[in-house]
Amino acid sequence: MCGVVGLYAPGHDVARMAYFGLYALQHRGQESAGIAVSDGASIVCHRQMGLLSSIFDEDILSKLQGYIAVGHTRYSTTGSSAVVNAQPLLEHAPFGDVALAHNGNLTNTDEMRAGLSPITVLQATSDSEVLERLIVEAPGDDMAARIRHVMTRAEGAYSIVMSTENALYAFRDPWGVRPLCYGRNPGGGYMFASESCALATVGAQFIRELDPGEIMWVDGEGLHYEKIAQPKPQALCMFEYIYFARPDSLLDNRSIYMARLEMGRQLAREHPVEADVVMAVPDSAIPGGIGFAQQIGLPYVEGLIKNRYIGRTFISPDQAMRNRGVQLKFNPIVENLRDQRVVVVDDSIVRGTTTPRIIKLLRDAGAREVHVRITSPPIIHPCYLGVDMATHEELIAANLTIPEICEKIGADSLGYLSKEGLLNATGRKRGEMCLGCLTGEYPETYNGPPVQAVAVRH
Ligand code: SF4
Repeated sequence: MCGVVGLYAPGHDVARMAYFGLYALQHRGQESAGIAVSDGASIVCHRQMGLLSSIFDEDILSKLQGYIAVGHTRYSTTGSSAVVNAQPLLEHAPFGDVALAHNGNLTNTDEMRAGLSPITVLQATSDSEVLERLIVEAPGDDMAARIRHVMTRAEGAYSIVMSTENALYAFRDPWGVRPLCYGRNPGGGYMFASESCALATVGAQFIRELDPGEIMWVDGEGLHYEKIAQPKPQALCMFEYIYFARPDSLLDNRSIYMARLEMGRQLAREHPVEADVVMAVPDSAIPGGIGFAQQIGLPYVEGLIKNRYIGRTFISPDQAMRNRGVQLKFNPIVENLRDQRVVVVDDSIVRGTTTPRIIKLLRDAGAREVHVRITSPPIIHPCYLGVDMATHEELIAANLTIPEICEKIGADSLGYLSKEGLLNATGRKRGEMCLGCLTGEYPETYNGPPVQAVAVRH
């Protein structure tokens, strides 16, 4: 998971717009970030480890002058967490500068790397650099032809924005695993972003999502688009709906907030329980918690307040603080929990390390019963398409039955949303989304290690 933005807007402060667009996408990656700007003659890039607020200031932004920008905020899956892998990746190609920002994971990186010229020396360790180098080395009279050449060979997930000195390109893999949309800047020009919330933040008007396998570019002649890869079975990551995307974003013209609200309602239909109050683990589970409460007819309360500014700090907690566990992140509202039978709605249980701490926090605050409801089905397989999920051994639902998980996390009861319930809530059909980590059936683009058979006892 990463966030990307691209802007082509002559006469506008594109670096500042990219900065605020990335700010709206900070939830997609907090490891490193960067912005590259072209003034038509060359590209200047600034990238660093850390959060956007710690990387950019007025002085740095004022040095990024031009009319085309690409920006990236990173969450690493392939390639180490080091500044060399921070993006955008700037390449001084024989035909001019190129800056690329990538969200996703290639599944045939080794094969792609083997297609590079023998004299190519890679600086970074990520699949994104391999992609960029291949585009630079690809045959073709123009950049669209080079991209077309690489898109017919690359497998896996890639939603990319890329700048040359005088044009902006955006393209999405033929499976559509990661989102990418575009809109019009009211003052002139266009903007591309991982999520529509980034467009709304800078006042750009959402037009539509890029189709899977589509390339778009903007240059002095305007906007161009072309479907350059054969359509493949659609495989948008269902975790975009459950957890990644911001609730104020649109996917497939469906509000993420409304999809999550419906997941909560459906969860209440599937797993009703006698209780006094419903709460959610902030932030991504809140719409699901509200939906659950609406459907079951119980009050929705705030049971935990999240310390929103802790993010991923580079200061490690000392042992005493570590022992306080999730309290660094959440504080309970005792008045809403004391002597109550509480339903706590969360979006997923992956390894099962955080949930027991949350339940303990609620019990310590006086909750009489804690009933856990999860707005995703059990996660029983790893992800090979860009999400740092866990290995089979670490995935709690791959190794324990639901009653065993319930006991291990210390809940009074536990219920997961069904796969059908999830699909209905998103409005998408089976076969139109990747459900690999729920089913072990990955999109055809997957060609990683053999899928390990898991005996799931529910
Ligand atoms: S395997 Fe799971 S997390 Fe990975 S892309 Fe598919 S649905 Fe998303």
